[in-house]
Amino acid sequence: MEPLRVLELYSGIGGMHFALKGCGVPAQVVAAVDINTTANHIYKHNFPSTPMWSKSIEGIPLEDFNKLSIDMILMSPPCQPFTRLGLKRDVVDQRTKSFLYVLDLLPKLSPPPRYILLENVKGFEESCARNQLVKTLNECGYHFKEIMVSPTSVGIPNSRLRYFLMAKRSEEGFSTETHSQILEAFPLHMDLDVSEQPTVLTPFQPEGQVLYKLETPEEVQRKQKQNSDPSIRQIQDFLDPDLDLDMDQYLLPPKTLLRYANILDIVWPSCRRSICFTKGYGRYVEGTGSVLQSSSEAEVEQVYQGLEELSEEQRLRRLHTLRLRYFSPREVANIMGFPQSFAFPEDVPVKQRYKVLGNSLNVEVVCKLLQILLSQHTVL
Ligand code: SAH
Repeated sequence: MEPLRVLELYSGIGGMHFALKGCGVPAQVVAAVDINTTANHIYKHNFPSTPMWSKSIEGIPLEDFNKLSIDMILMSPPCQPFTRLGLKRDVVDQRTKSFLYVLDLLPKLSPPPRYILLENVKGFEESCARNQLVKTLNECGYHFKEIMVSPTSVGIPNSRLRYFLMAKRSEEGFSTETHSQILEAFPLHMDLDVSEQPTVLTPFQPEGQVLYKLETPEEVQRKQKQNSDPSIRQIQDFLDPDLDLDMDQYLLPPKTLLRYANILDIVWPSCRRSICFTKGYGRYVEGTGSVLQSSSEAEVEQVYQGLEELSEEQRLRRLHTLRLRYFSPREVANIMGFPQSFAFPEDVPVKQRYKVLGNSLNVEVVCKLLQILLSQHTVL
């Protein structure tokens, strides 16, 4: 069988491409399109033979796409217009312009792509952009399924609830099995993940003041429940055994420890949970991703007991016993399901690595979805 000809739009660092490689269906990415130079540099490093179009999608004429003879489109349009904490400007946000262009192109593509997979954030499902997408798909004769899923559903200890849409041209048909297939592939944890996003816990505090831990009993209980779910792997499976050598660069600096001690999301190697890693990881603390307790001698609970009554120096001494550190970019990539073959070019700084990873997706989740979407393909 001829390999599927795949167009990867908003390709970033190639999360979709890695998932495609992992899903076992013969396929070839015939073009990857993105405007971010750092992401493109990383993409090329990993997929040197994939044609990279470093230009904005809305500037590419229909004919250029038609020349590719596309069987499948994979895309993760910019999510900022739809995020829960953003302005939700949706279709009037400039960053949605290119996606509206894609929707405009879709009925004109020749041949029409047989498969589409789209990823976006939670919030997209209630947007006008999603309604326009659904309308276009219906008009073009696609069957489709929408699903909200987090990596915990494939046994990965990380919350990253995302919206996915899988579409097939009518003649391909979604088998009547598809719904149960999805449920089978993603059986658990949907309930946990609705509340998985880091809640904003900090009331406004004047500069320089220490913020105090404000974890509700429900949150503590939820974390305990997640940590005791044996269907989810432990964080230790994703750690980099070679990190010991340059661990120090990932330790949280004293200033961060003092200022943010009480809002850090702390996990340790035996945990079965972590919060979503976002593009601000390593730069901002609040809600950008979990930090790791790398010393086994101390207990978080004991360290935090009566902490606020201590002097700054004593507090710091206590906090230091936990040896709190950021996950390295390699470890974040592991948690996000990237294979060991994934690599960063050496000249990409650590903060940029976190940034592009934060924009990317969980490769294992997408891999599962592609298997469902293409399950009939190989037998046709
Ligand atoms: N799935 C990707 C990340 C997608 S994030 C991954 O695995 O890394 C969205 C991407 O869309 C960003 O990389 C951003 O640079 C790109 N982008 C945003 N607007 C664009 C446009 N108009 N044309 C092309 N790429 C665009």
